[in-house]
Amino acid sequence: MAFDQLHRTSHLFTSFSESARDQQLILFIESQSTLAKRGWHIQRLFFLISSARHFAHDLVAEGFNVLYLKSESFQEAVERVRKSLPKARYTAMAPASFSLRKILDSANFEIMENDLFLTTPKDFEGWASGKKSLLMENFYRWQRKRLEILMDGGKPLGGEWNFDHDNRLPPPKNHKYPPYLKHQRDEIDRNVVKQLRESLPLLWGEDPDESWATTRAGALKQMAHFFENHFAEFGPYEDAMPKAEESWQVHHSLLSPYLNNGLLHPREVVDAAISRFERGDIPIASCEGFIRQVIGWREYVYGIYWLFGEKYRESNHLRASRKLLPLYRAPETTDMSCVKDVVTAVKERAWVHHIPRLMILSNLALLTGIRPGEFLDWMSEVFIDAYDWVMVPNVIGMGVHADGGAMMTKPYASGGAYISRMSNYCKGCVFDPKKRVGEDACPFTTLYWDFLDRHREEFLKNHRISQQVRGLDRLSDLEQLRERAQEVLKRLSAGTL
Ligand SMILES: Cc1cc2nc3c(=O)[nH]c(=O)nc-3n(C[C@H](O)[C@H](O)[C@H](O)COP(=O)(O)OP(=O)(O)OC[C@H]3O[C@@H](n4cnc5c(N)ncnc54)[C@H](O)[C@@H]3O)c2cc1C
Ligand code: SF4
Repeated sequence: MAFDQLHRTSHLFTSFSESARDQQLILFIESQSTLAKRGWHIQRLFFLISSARHFAHDLVAEGFNVLYLKSESFQEAVERVRKSLPKARYTAMAPASFSLRKILDSANFEIMENDLFLTTPKDFEGWASGKKSLLMENFYRWQRKRLEILMDGGKPLGGEWNFDHDNRLPPPKNHKYPPYLKHQRDEIDRNVVKQLRESLPLLWGEDPDESWATTRAGALKQMAHFFENHFAEFGPYEDAMPKAEESWQVHHSLLSPYLNNGLLHPREVVDAAISRFERGDIPIASCEGFIRQVIGWREYVYGIYWLFGEKYRESNHLRASRKLLPLYRAPETTDMSCVKDVVTAVKERAWVHHIPRLMILSNLALLTGIRPGEFLDWMSEVFIDAYDWVMVPNVIGMGVHADGGAMMTKPYASGGAYISRMSNYCKGCVFDPKKRVGEDACPFTTLYWDFLDRHREEFLKNHRISQQVRGLDRLSDLEQLRERAQEVLKRLSAGTL
């Protein structure tokens, strides 16, 4: 069974007959070659492996036959098992990636539908069929009606589909954030960390602390903690970026790792959100904002992944060719206080919320023109919740506009002004977010204008960004700006800015 299908009531388990348990074997495979090849964040591997080992352990306690294999590769393990059990039927739930699907097909597995999402690829295809534009907002409204969530008859509850206009506050001042929930480590957790450290020299990041649970019980506690302590303020501060030392969680749920590896099902997260909302003290903007992430964005990127196909990950519409900047692995080398803080937070716990992922990490990759595949690899290696189906559309479509607007209609490019408004990073930074030229010009601001300039012709054709491009004509210092941008790009690539 795949390490992202750890759900005890999925199709896979309901298809098992209780009375024939002794004739069934559940197979888990840890493929060593996949682990050894790349610079994974230790907490990402720790979370995946320890969750799977806990899950396997619980299945054994329930009386299932479990075979947990460590093997050079997935294929090698399957061949080994097939040799010892040649007459067995091999069944798997549809995997959430093209690559695993190919492996299972070539190994002749019977594939059953994956019921860990609310929308199947076929449902999504049906929705997308014949549409000129695949706007997420339209998909989301379709989901609300179809799933009957936050509806008042045929109308949206509260009179509006989307309350985002209430949800754009900067970090609050002198705010008391609720304490973080801590998850105690056990013997299985400790063994996984030890084995990873002993066998994988390329690992990146700090050893796991108590931020992440590795069991269903822990995931349920995290969900309850969010709904009691953060839900009410989720909406207004959804986009805010305080420094990590103030709060690295802000009011986000931290549920993506568990939703993505199966420890939580999106349906139960939505049900818990609605029942908490119905108790009466949660503003609708927070509830609707959260529901939109789960039934809207999450399901949308899953649908886009399958709809756009296997080659989508190779898109490079803007022909970006720069190598990954050294600061993505060595945040201590940069003076850009926002980037330093965010990459350090990733190093500490393999997670930052949506806006730093989009408006700092991806924005920098977009503006500096990093090869999309290289940035995608880095993001996939260092985030705890990364899986192909979710990382590919978020990076290729949303983060770096590599698909030329097939998913999102405009690039999410911004200068220092946005970061300055939505964070408190700029105070105390050696750079000035308002300046675009000069030694202390904010690299985001310089590169933002330079990016528009480099892609002027392309973006003039896009009415969602053309007005910003025309702003270039009002810049009296465009030549100086171009020179400064060259210097900034050179120094960022050399790891000296
Ligand atoms: C460049 C980029 C890469 C990303 N990569 C991933 C990834 O690999 N895995 C991942 O789960 N999310 C990814 N996201 C989406 C989002 O950043 C994370 O889901 C979120 O930060 C997880 O933290 P949370 O659980 O506290 O989320 P919350 O803010 O509490 O949101 C609730 C839930 O909504 C879902 N959600 C919200 N936005 C998205 C989205 N754009 N795509 C998919 N699900 C979404 C998640 O399941 C999340 O748990 C990415 C976003 C960007 C911009
Ligand atoms: S001035 Fe620029 S580099 Fe410094 S923190 Fe602000 S946005 Fe980041």
